[in-house]
Order: sequence, then C-alpha cells, then structure tokens
Amino acid sequence: MKEKILNILQKYYGYKSFRRGQEDIINSILQGQDVLAIMPTGGGKSLCYQVPALCMDGLTIVISPLISLMKDQVDSLTTMGIEASYINSSLSSEDYNQILENIVNDKYKIVYVAPERLESAEFLNIIQNKDIAQIAIDEAHCISQWGHDFRVSYKKIPSFIKKLKTRPIVTTFTATASTEVRKDILNMLDLIEPKIFITGFDRENLYINIVKSSAKNKYLLEYVENHKTENGIIYAATRKEVEKIYEGLLKRDIDVLKYHAGMSNEDRKINQDKFINDEVNIIVATNAFGMGIDKPDIRWVIHYNMPQSIENYYQEIGRAGRDGEKSECVLLFTPGDVHTQKYLIEMGTESVARKTIQYNKLQQMVDLVYSNSCYRKSILEYFGEVMLGKCDNCSNCLAEGQIIDKTLDAQKVISCIYRMKRNYGLTMIVDVLRGSKNKKVLEAGFDKLSTYGIMKDYSNEGLKTFINTLVSHGFLEIKENPGSRGSFPTICLNKQSLKVLKGEIKVEFKEVKVAKESRNKNELFEVLSDLRKAIAVKEKIAPYMVFGDATLLSMANIYPTTEEEILNISGIGQVKYEKYGQSFINAIETYMADKNINKSELIKKEQNNIDETEGLNKDFFEVKTDKNLYELLKKVRAKYARIESIPYHMVMNKNTLKEISGRYPLDTEKLSDISGLGPKKIDKYGEEIIEVVNNYVEENNIKVNWREKKRKKLIIDGESRKPKEIALDLLNQGMDVKSVSNKLETSVYSILGFIYDYIKEDNELHFNFNPSIYYCEDEKELIKKSIDKFGEDKMRDIKKSLPDYIRYESIRAVIIEKYITA
Ligand code: ADP
Repeated sequence: MKEKILNILQKYYGYKSFRRGQEDIINSILQGQDVLAIMPTGGGKSLCYQVPALCMDGLTIVISPLISLMKDQVDSLTTMGIEASYINSSLSSEDYNQILENIVNDKYKIVYVAPERLESAEFLNIIQNKDIAQIAIDEAHCISQWGHDFRVSYKKIPSFIKKLKTRPIVTTFTATASTEVRKDILNMLDLIEPKIFITGFDRENLYINIVKSSAKNKYLLEYVENHKTENGIIYAATRKEVEKIYEGLLKRDIDVLKYHAGMSNEDRKINQDKFINDEVNIIVATNAFGMGIDKPDIRWVIHYNMPQSIENYYQEIGRAGRDGEKSECVLLFTPGDVHTQKYLIEMGTESVARKTIQYNKLQQMVDLVYSNSCYRKSILEYFGEVMLGKCDNCSNCLAEGQIIDKTLDAQKVISCIYRMKRNYGLTMIVDVLRGSKNKKVLEAGFDKLSTYGIMKDYSNEGLKTFINTLVSHGFLEIKENPGSRGSFPTICLNKQSLKVLKGEIKVEFKEVKVAKESRNKNELFEVLSDLRKAIAVKEKIAPYMVFGDATLLSMANIYPTTEEEILNISGIGQVKYEKYGQSFINAIETYMADKNINKSELIKKEQNNIDETEGLNKDFFEVKTDKNLYELLKKVRAKYARIESIPYHMVMNKNTLKEISGRYPLDTEKLSDISGLGPKKIDKYGEEIIEVVNNYVEENNIKVNWREKKRKKLIIDGESRKPKEIALDLLNQGMDVKSVSNKLETSVYSILGFIYDYIKEDNELHFNFNPSIYYCEDEKELIKKSIDKFGEDKMRDIKKSLPDYIRYESIRAVIIEKYITA
C-alpha cells in the first residue's frame, strides 16, 4: 500500500515525499477509519482525502463551504489528470444535470459539494444508489458555534450520511485547534471511533517578523519596493486604511489591487481573480480577503495593523507560503493599533460576553507583540502546542540589525513628562522637548522646565516616532481620556518608565532593517514564468495550477532537458509532464541555445552554486534519503544486529543510515563525517557499508559530489527538529514512551531523559506518563536513597551503588516521579 500511495503522489502530484502527518492520515483512512485531522492552513489537508479517494473504489464526496475554492480545486485536479467536479449554486441547471448524469455513470472519483446541496432531494436520490467510499468534510469547524465560520447547513451532514446505502468512511479536516471546536466536530458529526491527528501547527517556512516602530509607511514602502515582483498581501484593519495605503502605493507607480467589504461583489471578484492569476502581484485588503484564497505562492504578508487575536493573525499569515517555500510575515505594530481594535470591538454587535472574550484575545495578541522570547514558540503555546528551544526563524530569535542604546534619550523624555506633572498629548510633549515657543507651552510655564528644549536635535516627526516607539516597547503608556469631541489620548508614565529613569533598565532598540528579495530567481525563471502564464491564459486556469513557483525555480536552476530529468523535479507528475513537459523542455533548450550554455559547464556552475549557498546557509546541511539504498543498508544493519544479538539501533540508528544513503560515502575515511559513526563502529561495519554504497552508486550510475558536513546542523528530508523535540511532539500527540522509543530507534532511557530535561525546564507535562511502570516498589526505596546520597545528576554513581538488576531507566523514572508529584 505504501508503494501505491507513493506512486499516486508521484504520478499525479509530482511530489516526492509526504508532508508531516499526511502519510499517517492517508493510511488510517485506507484502513477504513474515520479521521479528524487538525492541520495548519497550508499544511496540505486536501491531499489527505484526495489520495485515498484515488486508491478506493467508489466516489469521494468532499463537503466544503467555500464555493469560490471549489472550481480551483477541481481545475487543479483536472490538470493533474484526476476526474473531478463540483456542485454548488454557481452552476447553470444544464451543467448541474450533466454533472448528475456523470455521477450516475461513475465518471468522477471526487465531487465537491456545498453543504446546502445535501438537502436537495434530487441530489440525494442519485447519491443514495451509488457506492460512496468517503465523505470528506473540509473546514469541519463550521459545525461548531464556537468556531468563527459557523454554518447551519453543516448540522445536516449526519442525517445525510444516515440516508446513504452503506455508511462511508467519514473524514474531517480543519485548522482550528480549540478544544470546544474539536469536541463539537467529534460529537456532532457522529464520527465512529475516529483517529485524531494533530500534525502540529508550526509553519516552519514562515519567517515571523514583528516590527515595533511608528515609521510604518517608510517601512512598508521600502519593503514593497524590494519585493514588488513577488506575490504579497498587505492587511489593514479598516476600509479607510486600505484605501489610504492603496492610493499611496498607486501614487508611487506600484501596481496594486484593493479588497474590502465596502466594494461591490463584482469589483471584489475582479480584483481577487487578477491577484490569483498573477496579473497583479500585490493586494491591499481588510481581513475580508483570504477565506477563499488558496493561492500557494504568496511570498509575503504584511500586517499594517495588528489583528484582533492570535487566531486571526496566524490564519492570515498562514496564507503565505502554502507551497512550503520560504515566505515572510511582517507585523508593523504601533500602540494606536490596540486602540483601533478596541474601537472595532466596542462598535461590534456582539454580546457583552463575546466582547469580553474578544478583549482577552486582544490582550493576548498585545502580549505576543511585546514578548521578548521566540514568537513562534509563544504562538504555538497559545494553540496548546509545546515547542522546545527557539525557532531561529522569527525576529526575536534572529537578532538582525544593530542594537542601539537609547537609554539617555528615553530618560530625557520620561523626565520631561514627569516634570510636566499632568498628562499631556504627544504634540505638547514634543513641543516642550524641542523648545517650541508655542503659546500653550509658554502659558503653562514649560519653558522654565530643565527639560525644555533638550531634544532639539530631533526633528518633530523623528521625536514623535521615538516616543511612540517607547510606547510600543512598553516604556510609556497611552491613556484614553473621554471628552466631548471623542477620546483624547495622553501619554503617561508606568513602572517601567521609572526604572528607566533610575537607570535600573536599559532602553535598547534593534535597528529595523528591511529584507531584500532573497530568492534565487534568474532570467530563465522569467522565461518559464511567461510560458506558464501563456498556458494558463489559454487553458483558463491560474498559473500556479500549471506549475508552482518552487517547481519553476528548480527548472530554472537545473535546466532539465530530458523526460527523466524533468520528472525528477518536485511538482511534475506524469500527467503534467505529458501535458506541459515538452513545452518547458523546448523553452529551456531554446534558452540554452540562445545563451550558448552547455550542460557540462552547468554542472560545474551548479557545484559552485552549492558551495556558495553553503557559504550563505552555513549552519545547515541538508540530506535527502535515497530510499532504495536505505533499504539495502537496513539489511546490513539487521545482519549485524543478529550476529551481535543487540537491537538494531545499537548497531546504527536510522538517521545514520539515512544520512549515508543520501550522501554516498565511497571510502571509510568519509564515514567519519557521518553522525552516529565513531571509530569503533567504522572499524566493525565500515567496510561492508562502503561496499554496498559503491555497488549501488555504480549500478545506478549516480554521480557523487561529496561535500563535507563539518559541524553544520544536519537536516534529513527537511526534518529540522532534534530527536528530543520529535520525541516530545509524539508524546504530546498521545504516543506512549515505548512506541516513541521504537519509532525513533532510541532507548527508553533516552526518551525518559528527554522527559526529565523537559520537566526541568519548568514545563508541565500535557501527556499521560506513568513512571511507576519502570520500577518495582522495593527498587524505588533503594533508588531514592542513592539519589539522596549522590544527587540526581550523578547517574553513574547512583547506578554503581545499586544492585546490577536495577536498570538506568528505573532510576530516571524515580527521579521524574519526584518532579511530577512535587
Ligand atoms: P490546506 O488545505 O491544509 O491549507 P492545501 O491542501 O491547500 O493546504 O495544500 C497547500 C499547498 O501545499 C498546495 O499547493 C499543495 O499542492 C501543497 N502540498 C501538499 N502536500 C504536499 C507535499 N507532500 N509536497 C509538496 N507540496 C505539497
């Protein structure tokens, strides 16, 4: 079965491997199990029900609330050579009847249906007589009133399923993680002993950049200027703000679209289509834009204003980089955003109870912005997920930009506010600090203050920006003062301000830097991109449905000119190859001929490129497993495990085998650059490994470019988590210690070690863990005494002092228990 689903993945989708969680979900569905899969936006949910649909006899019905997406989904499937259709209110009755007839004649494998349609007697009549293999419910949170997109018609789904001849497998998918929503999905959709998958909410390819500065416009303009050839969304909180940004960009000759609820349906549709079809790269929008947007190649999302909650924020940035390519999400924060959001909540029509929830969520969003630790970690924790260490892909982790000490200037501002005694607005404070002769300043006698005119070296705007930045970082506070002409904000001191004044804390800002477009696009990319556009226009589909950016980028760097070479590129399956492959090969060949490029020189150049990118990406070393060689190496390992009567992983763990398979070491010397192989193991197994690798390379005509890994962090098949992180992720997903140990080929003792470290880092366990299964009661007393004597860090001494039969894992378990029960 594994082979079959991998074949489908390759043949239709052209992908070489599954993303996290997909394979397990597909396998469960194929074993006949109901499923609830919670995956982040862009995690790859569709493939999880589509692949089983292709493996099973009978029809798969996908229930989806997003009419605007159905056509895209079906177009995408059709370009891949999969028979599919959709039924919703946008169809003419003629088309509708044709589709029903096709269903009767078993023409489709997958049909997308709007939930309202399930109540139609005509539709039910036809479906009742068919073999339905799977009902896949997309956006399953729509069943729950707790979710943000409640749909009454979702409640009709169970009765629809009951009316079918035989009950199909019911699979449900959502990106909403809250427990209330999860409970509703499980209960209200009548799932039968469903297997629940929570694949983890992390979207590793998204760079989370939160910028606290009041110079938003400057940042935005510079950013857009640097990224205008890439697809991007600029989100703003209100229609007015959208219009303002839109006009501003147009004035600067930037091609841009707008989208908000104040526009007519038709205008919105036109703009959305232009964006999807790559006619215009940039769109400025309120959060009304996005629910039906499945565009995989959005490279950046800028929030011009802070969203109302972390859920909103994560959903909106989730629209970037669905294709898994690196993408950037910038949140431009000023304290005024908090006021805008409070105002929007206040003006909303929600009940008081809902408003209280909204205020709490807003506060959590503000806390995130002010947090000094890893943003990704904080977001994932908000969703109830545990992340160890830091992500190194957010602006808190990557301390880009120089740190500038602004303590002295901050003290000047604070002491001025302190001396002005009452609370004043920003303009007045700036006037005093800059020594203005303004009447109000003189009348209040502020020209007598020692702080009068001490910041003349700042421009008016510059000083306002600086004070706002102090507010953004929490060194000052804004107070709203209700008045007859609306609320009037003043600036006041807080505990932090006083600490700054006394010199107890420093005020340090990171210099804000705007990233440059970083992707490795070249001229050939542009040529291929034009070809893609031409095909898309001709076939009336979006360009990304022909090939995604990542696929084009690979072509532009690898120059494939044969069937084999082009099929090796991710995103090109058999069907797409047959449709478009030759056109792209022709374009590449023409380009090479025009530019006088020959292949052998290219290979040399590519090698140089690898060296160059190594220079850039100097911390990581990526390896992709060669599955066939890996299987052969597993056999060698099994043989030695038998001979030595030890578990497999003690010979070599699977990551070592994977690394060997992906790097092809051809002599024993190179083995010392493989993780997990010390001199002893190389002595014992080295020769045989090298023989297997050499034979394999020869038989398969593989050209080996050996590169030294040195001290770089190894990433195998895109998995960048450390074993400890993987283990804890699995435990958190409900797997028991023994199974994790088997899966990772790591001893139970090591897994307990991970749990111990985790607790020591002051974390609470969110999974079931029972230490007492690792020792007997009489052992426990002995172990405890020894721990008291030597201290819990002295594992070896403890072990030595105890009878031989007491195992390391028992000692660890007793230590952990102490923490759990403490
Ligand atoms: P979701 O519905 O979870 O938001 P999608 O199903 O739309 O996500 O998938 C997002 C993007 O990721 C799509 O462009 C899809 O083709 C791509 N994708 C899904 N699975 C894989 C995979 N295994 N390898 C590469 N790309 C994938």
